[in-house]
Amino acid sequence: MSVLEIDSVTKRFGGLLAVNDVSFEVDRGEIVGLIGPNGSGKSTVFNCIMSIYDVTEGSITFDGTDITDHRTHEVVNSGVSRVSQESNPIESMPVGGNIQLFTLPNSIVSFGGGASDAEIYEYAARVDIEDKLEEMPDELPHADIRRLEIAKALATEPELLLLDEPFAGMNQAEITELAATFERFRENGMTIVIVDHNMGGLMELVDRAVVLNNGDKLMEGTPTQVTEDPRVQKAYLGTAE
Ligand code: ADP
Ligand code: MG
Repeated sequence: MSVLEIDSVTKRFGGLLAVNDVSFEVDRGEIVGLIGPNGSGKSTVFNCIMSIYDVTEGSITFDGTDITDHRTHEVVNSGVSRVSQESNPIESMPVGGNIQLFTLPNSIVSFGGGASDAEIYEYAARVDIEDKLEEMPDELPHADIRRLEIAKALATEPELLLLDEPFAGMNQAEITELAATFERFRENGMTIVIVDHNMGGLMELVDRAVVLNNGDKLMEGTPTQVTEDPRVQKAYLGTAE
């Protein structure tokens, strides 16, 4: 059963057609890749789901509810959380405080009544940074900063997690470890969409992938179907992949 439905979503920025009539669905418990070269519209799709951007046309349904015109905090409260491409920890607060902030009643991403220390520990433990709660963000290696960003997203208790380029800047060992973390999320019932501009390692993790190119949906399919598709290979020609 599909938990997320993207239905004919178009997003224009003035004369620029960033996302052009894109539709896809995500089933409960799946890990879906949303891939495509840089500038193909992947982050814009996430921004439309989160209502950071208003869609120009089309609709977005989550858990059977049309959330197209919901405000961002309503989208979050309904069970969707997004980890953006950029990390933005508050450098004057330790890791634990950074996570706590996302559970506060007055936070723009408010889920509820603020979390106890045990709950903060639990969010951190789900991404294996529970021994770093007292550390300051600038003491952490890049991979742990990214894990902190994921812990912040978990603090809103999402059913659906949107991950924008979660592996960027990581070495192979860190990528493998993070992929194992996402497998664990899936085993615990989470639904995940992962944006990546590379196809490579992601294909071992995802059940299906949707491919964007210049704002258009090129195709969707299993990892094998995607990697063997000549249109996808052509789209990636001359890019970093
Ligand atoms: P991707 O995440 O696939 O690299 P994006 O979704 O970030 O691509 O961008 C798709 C296109 O939309 C790009 O041409 C980008 O410059 C443009 N774009 C994204 N956000 C904005 C914005 N806020 N204003 C104007 N153009 C934007
Ligand atoms: Mg992007």
